[in-house]
Amino acid sequence: MSEAKSEESSAEGAALNALLSACPCGKVPTAIYVYADSDRPKWAYCHGNCCGEWNIEFRAGYADLASDEIQRLSEEAWNAAPRAPADNAD
Ligand SMILES: [Zn+2]
Repeated sequence: MSEAKSEESSAEGAALNALLSACPCGKVPTAIYVYADSDRPKWAYCHGNCCGEWNIEFRAGYADLASDEIQRLSEEAWNAAPRAPADNAD
């Protein structure tokens, strides 16, 4: 028997994943992309880097689109957004 040394070092990803809730697509995004129709939007949209199909609107409060602030707001909104339960165990 040979020594199987498969190194699935995902510590870095796991640390990032811990910050974000799972997407309804079933994956946990490691990044949230923010987009809006202006540089300092009142409302903006964001989606995860998993599927990019589930997007949510959140209040950006005129924060700069490139700021850490808007990124933080998007991640909060992402985690707080209601999701359909993954298992329909009714
Ligand atoms: Zn997704």
